[in-house]
Amino acid sequence: MADIKPYWQNYIDGAWVDGGEGRIDVTDPATGEKLAEAALADAGDVDRAVMAARRVHLSGALTAMRPIERGRKVQAMGRWILDRKDEIAEVLTREQGKPLWEAMIEVEGAALYFEYYGNQASTVEGRSIPLGAGYFDFTDHEPFGVSAQIIPWNYPLEMTARSLSASLTTGNTAVIKSPEMTPLTNTYFALAAEAVGFPTGTVNVICGLGRTAGAALAGHPHVNQIVFTGSVPTGIAIAKAAAGNVVPCVLELGGKSAAIVHDDADLDAFETDIRWGIYFNAGQVCSAMSRVIVHESRHAELVERATAIAKSLSVGPGIERTEFGANMGAMVSDGQRDRAAGMVRDAEGQGATVAAGGRPLNRPGAFLEPTVLTGVTPDMTIAREEVFGPVLSVLSFRDDAEAIEIANSTDYGLVSGVFTRDLDRATRAARALRAGQVFVNQWYAGGVETPFGGYGKSGYGREKGREALWNYVQTKNVAIKLG
Ligand code: NAD
Repeated sequence: MADIKPYWQNYIDGAWVDGGEGRIDVTDPATGEKLAEAALADAGDVDRAVMAARRVHLSGALTAMRPIERGRKVQAMGRWILDRKDEIAEVLTREQGKPLWEAMIEVEGAALYFEYYGNQASTVEGRSIPLGAGYFDFTDHEPFGVSAQIIPWNYPLEMTARSLSASLTTGNTAVIKSPEMTPLTNTYFALAAEAVGFPTGTVNVICGLGRTAGAALAGHPHVNQIVFTGSVPTGIAIAKAAAGNVVPCVLELGGKSAAIVHDDADLDAFETDIRWGIYFNAGQVCSAMSRVIVHESRHAELVERATAIAKSLSVGPGIERTEFGANMGAMVSDGQRDRAAGMVRDAEGQGATVAAGGRPLNRPGAFLEPTVLTGVTPDMTIAREEVFGPVLSVLSFRDDAEAIEIANSTDYGLVSGVFTRDLDRATRAARALRAGQVFVNQWYAGGVETPFGGYGKSGYGREKGREALWNYVQTKNVAIKLG
């Protein structure tokens, strides 16, 4: 295990600086021990970062570049990150708790965003609109300017990579507010931007508390666009701040996503979906498969399989889990673990049965046993509210209409899944499910290329795919009266 430097500063206008609010301890959730300290930004730091990003934007340095050149720099950031995969993955595991092999996947996933979006810089084209003989008219897509990106702790690298790569590709500058529990790996984006030669001030990375630095950033009058990934209450606060300054925002919020498993589903294959869908990253995934709604004829078999998977996972420090396999790491903090364990207890109180897991491990660290709850009904809290932990709720249905009704019965609508060999049935379900993505016969089918975002309280706007590029540009129309 490499030594981790004891103190990580913020990066503002090309300089590594202390924070106006002092420092925050970063804890290794696998041990409960202090890992390092991070600088904690105050409103003054936020202002300096925004003004630096604004200066670069107003200088025109990024828009003057030929897009293909800007895109090359974005791609080079991805390669810079990939070249340091081992180092970054280790820091990620130690600040966040996930197994090292999952951290490696996250670093690769982060790099992929830079490759994908960097490659598209020159594709953001306008059009010419015919207005008759006396005019020449064309549209142009211009960057908003300063993009504020407020990041959650569950995938700190990938979430930042997702918005930063698209914002730079389209010629914006950025201020990133990293998550206060997992701020360390975000600093690598500052190093990458510097290494590839983006002008000083283009990318600023600051760690700070949500209620101070986060709120100051969301409400800053010179922020031109906001991307937020996190919880619903914070999303609402950010949307209000954005409205106050009349700037657009993208909200990627939580979910209570359901897989509908029909009587003809391939349950052998579905075991893999259970493994990835709810136990990957210890279930701390916004698009986790937190509910399975199974046809009553396959209920007993599915519960047996899910329980066997939950019990087969070895749970312990992520740093020791180097290889892909049947294992799971710590949750991000004792607080998150206790919240999830408390929701399991409450579900039992409301009549659900714990078929597997449900308890914290009897050792230091934020570990929760992989959990399966049966006898869950749609009215229970556990069926409606996000756990954000390794807890699978199993419900059952009698006919297709009931399955859809249960799947659509929460306030959320991030993703959903349908598992059947019948293409007609899958297509009908895909149309009826209220969610931004529908997975058919594989949870998490898709990639950086496919648009991602929520219906309902899961948010609005889309990240990933071509759609995301339009979050970062505004359309200008130029109408020329010919002489
Ligand atoms: P959170 O809302 O508590 O915090 C997210 C970020 O917002 C942090 O950086 C935090 O410091 C900041 N913040 C908090 N209060 C703020 C305020 N008043 N103003 C400005 N910023 C503020 O969420 P979390 O606990 O870090 O993350 C978990 C949540 O994120 C879950 O609900 C999960 O589903 C969601 N999430 C969604 C996606 C997605 O793409 N849809 C991805 C990952 C996580």
